Amino acid sequence: MSVDCIFCKIVNGVIPSKKIYEDDDVIAFNDIKPSAKVHFLIVPKLHVESLASCETQHQALLGKMLLLAPKIAKEQGLAGFKTLINTGRDGGQEVFHLHLHVLGGGEKPPKT
Ligand code: 5GP
Ligand code: ZN
Repeated sequence: MSVDCIFCKIVNGVIPSKKIYEDDDVIAFNDIKPSAKVHFLIVPKLHVESLASCETQHQALLGKMLLLAPKIAKEQGLAGFKTLINTGRDGGQEVFHLHLHVLGGGEKPPKT
């Protein structure tokens, strides 16, 4: 846990979220500013800053996050979806706790 991290606070229930999935390693919740009809984030409970901070020890966690995307997307009623990981300030990352965006549900697929 990183004390100033907003997603660590969500993981620990200090900040509320619309949680749609949780297990021992990962939670998923709806994005507060959705860019699509359905827009949720898959977030590891472990504080890892970004994809660029991941190492071999995070391989299983990354695989788990990716494999959860279609499962949760289906539960949310999505027939198809986009996935996105912003990495670093230059990559558009605003929250420095690794997360996978999953977006869908519109007539036109979102660009990002
Ligand atoms: P990034 O740009 O880091 O890839 O995306 C961060 C995402 O987190 C943004 O889409 C933003 O709307 C979302 N977000 C930021 N703060 C909160 C929050 O407190 N709760 C929820 N549910 N989403 C948040
Ligand atoms: Zn964190």
